[in-house]
Amino acid sequence: MIKKSIDVKNWAKNRIKKNEFEKYLVNGKDFIDDNEIIKTLKANNHPGPEKIKNILAKSLAIETLTLDETAALLNVTDTGLLREMEKTALQIKKKVYDNRIVTFAPLYLSNLCLNDCLYCGFRQGNKEAKRKILSLEEVRKETEVLAGKIGHKRLIVVYGEHPRADVRYMVKTIKEIYKVKAKTKHGFSRIRRVNVNAAPMPVNELKILKRAGLGTYQVFQETYHHDTYATLHPRGTLKSDYRWRLYTMHRALEAGIDDVGIGALFGLYDWKFEVMGLVAHARELEKQFGIGPHTISFPRLEPAANAPYTIDSRHKVSDRNFEKLITVIRLSVPYTGMIITARETPQMRRRSIQLGVTQTDASTRIGIGAYSGSSGKQETKRQQFLLGDTRSLEELIAEFCRMGYITSFCTAGYRCGRTGECIMDLLKTGQEGKFCKLNAILTFREWLDDFAGPATKKIGEKVINRELAEIKEKMPKIYPKLIEYYEKIKKGERDLYF
Ligand code: SAM
Ligand code: SF4
Repeated sequence: MIKKSIDVKNWAKNRIKKNEFEKYLVNGKDFIDDNEIIKTLKANNHPGPEKIKNILAKSLAIETLTLDETAALLNVTDTGLLREMEKTALQIKKKVYDNRIVTFAPLYLSNLCLNDCLYCGFRQGNKEAKRKILSLEEVRKETEVLAGKIGHKRLIVVYGEHPRADVRYMVKTIKEIYKVKAKTKHGFSRIRRVNVNAAPMPVNELKILKRAGLGTYQVFQETYHHDTYATLHPRGTLKSDYRWRLYTMHRALEAGIDDVGIGALFGLYDWKFEVMGLVAHARELEKQFGIGPHTISFPRLEPAANAPYTIDSRHKVSDRNFEKLITVIRLSVPYTGMIITARETPQMRRRSIQLGVTQTDASTRIGIGAYSGSSGKQETKRQQFLLGDTRSLEELIAEFCRMGYITSFCTAGYRCGRTGECIMDLLKTGQEGKFCKLNAILTFREWLDDFAGPATKKIGEKVINRELAEIKEKMPKIYPKLIEYYEKIKKGERDLYF
């Protein structure tokens, strides 16, 4: 039962601090100029091959593209040029991230929500949803499964917007997750990085989250188109304030949170417009703070219970256009991490990885309490939407190995200060890879020994041996130290990193 004692109205009344974003407005306008975006898309309607080739060269130099350049890429229809764009996108990904892929799991902690987003199963208007907020004991149980049985090291915890799931609840739950030492055959395993996807918060609360050890703070703008935003987020709800949301990452960076994740929910409005919005957002953050988004997400709208907009939308994105938008995001913001989730089918996830995606979730369950509690079946009354891929982490890892990728469980960068501006520079110059390559091997070895079945272990070791050989050849000085750590891990030591 949900307690009714909290003064919900009062809590909501004082949440939005206009002074925290008004200072960024220029002549009363925010940095998304809808008409300008539409004009730019039209002006770049027929880009010639020369122009596209020059743009691709800029992307390959790991420079963020302008809106003009992004519009030109979005408008390419020639199949030859499109293939060229895809090839370059993959080259960029290799240059910045090599053959590493990062995995995580979403952990839904509460579906209590004051908002009424017309596309979401958690919205207030969905009276059939079973509402639940996890107790600390339940959070511990969920974490034990995620860390101890599946072997995840990174989580993204997800909350609806509600006073019962306020910043104090977030801090308590994050701390509880970090505390869990889940038993494995070689001792214990724990979650090393907790990212958060939650409603926009004021600076003082973001500072509290930072102190609690939050990794990336993720908020999606949903749609960058002002009028569509107003239609889908009914007036009077907290979420209806477009600018409070648009400037969330400004506040996060002010609060000292280095890693911020932006995103758009594709299917709410024209997909080309949304890509332009994402690139404008990245450029604005770079301009104001010298740091762009640590990650970009591009979820596609999925069917959700009692959310008719998920069926009615005129803007659903076809697979072909989805592939194109992934390619263009990779080319326009070349240094950023790109996340695809289990909303997508296995085929689409495979394809997206060849176009630039760097992170994905696995063994995903999005019902509240679903990792430790339910049968594993998808349940529309407890879930925000339905998933397209419910494969296990082990299945995904085996597939990545077959594709030539190594799954990295490395979270060392965050724990020794390689975040924010520092990591941006390392990523742009390709140097971040040095540490990451070594840590990918060490953490993947850990995972194989703790969690893999014999077949996955075999195919995983092939990948590791290939990586070790590469390091021996390309980084001979560091190789002996790597082997020292590697052997210790094989004997059961854990959490060694560069
Ligand atoms: N309540 C917070 C908020 O809205 O920012 C965070 C949690 S919300 C559950 C996380 C994200 O799920 C939203 O930002 C939205 O992009 C996405 N989402 C909502 N409904 C969806 C649907 N029907 N299909 C796919 N993604 C959806
Ligand atoms: Fe609530 Fe977020 Fe769903 Fe909107 S998207 S109804 S804010 S949980």
